Amino acid sequence: MAPFWRGVPGNASSLHAGGRRAKEAIDEARTHVAALLGVREPSRIFFTSGGTESDVWALRGVFESDLADAERDHLLVSAVEHPAVLETARRLARRGVRLTLAPVDRLGRLGDLAVDTRTRLVSIMAANNETGNLHDLPSIAVTTRNHGAIFHVDAVQACGKVPLELDAWGVDLASVSGHKLGGPQGVGALYLREGVSLAPLLTGGGQEGGQRSGTHNTAGIVGLGEAARLARAELSEVSARMAALRDAFEEGVRSRVPWVRRLGDRERRLPNTASLSFPGIKGEALLMAMDAEEICVSTGSACSSGSGKPSHVLVAMGLSQSQLDGALRVSLGTGTTRDEVDVAAGVLADIALRLAALSPDRPSEDADV
Ligand code: PLP
Repeated sequence: MAPFWRGVPGNASSLHAGGRRAKEAIDEARTHVAALLGVREPSRIFFTSGGTESDVWALRGVFESDLADAERDHLLVSAVEHPAVLETARRLARRGVRLTLAPVDRLGRLGDLAVDTRTRLVSIMAANNETGNLHDLPSIAVTTRNHGAIFHVDAVQACGKVPLELDAWGVDLASVSGHKLGGPQGVGALYLREGVSLAPLLTGGGQEGGQRSGTHNTAGIVGLGEAARLARAELSEVSARMAALRDAFEEGVRSRVPWVRRLGDRERRLPNTASLSFPGIKGEALLMAMDAEEICVSTGSACSSGSGKPSHVLVAMGLSQSQLDGALRVSLGTGTTRDEVDVAAGVLADIALRLAALSPDRPSEDADV
């Protein structure tokens, strides 16, 4: 990234040598992102300012497209999507779009989707950012295609952690975020399948083939491209290692705190996410005590924690109030070590036992469910 933020960076839209260098670097980044997503045509990757912009562009772009069939007024998203999708969907609903929020079960799994002949867009995340649950994209793509609808996938969490074959599965649109795969913040991408009509969100100078105007964030895009290249090269090794560490972490906590609940689908989930609940004690109290030990964890989603509201994902899963209050999410990184995991599990267990001893709703000792 450094050559592109030092000195006077070339503008990829300029014809001089500096501009050409920037354009080449951006096009190389496109090939890495396309390869990571399982997309054959790199020119269908468009760079954005991040996952949020990609999600908002996908939803609004489909409903604002002049070429779309006006009869198709239905949008289906899951109840556990990131707020970038959910809030955009609600905004569209206020303007007359018929919105369905697909429910999930107690493990956060989706059932059959209520797609109909008037559905214009289905937007389902590849992996949930709170529970780590993976959704069955190939089968959702079949349902969507059978009804003639467009399929958008928020791949922000899954990208770089599990293999993706978006072309082969029949996904039409997909969102990516740099900082979720080890790249920089403030950069992302949208995959847009050839032939899918999407209105631009940002109009202006016509960059990115007129699809997304604005001078390129060249250094950020180069960083995203390099992160995508590394993530793809190391995917199977890193994800197997993270899953083993995540399991060791969960087991380390559970062996000392048998009443901890593991949330979400334990069969189909990301390798790096441990979603736990300590009923009877407060997730915020755990977070603060962990922070004092210099261990960073989260309660609900990072964006909504601090708001005092329970996570919409865990609410949609129908958890009890004490499970909601006691929720804690721990994410491993690619560089997390076994020692760190053991220390973190030990510290968390110590804190949970200390807080439980003080809690008026002392947790019961029943086994993990
Ligand atoms: N979608 C999901 C599933 C996320 O987890 C996030 C961020 O945490 C986003 C979208 C938003 O991405 P960004 O932070 O790049 O705007």
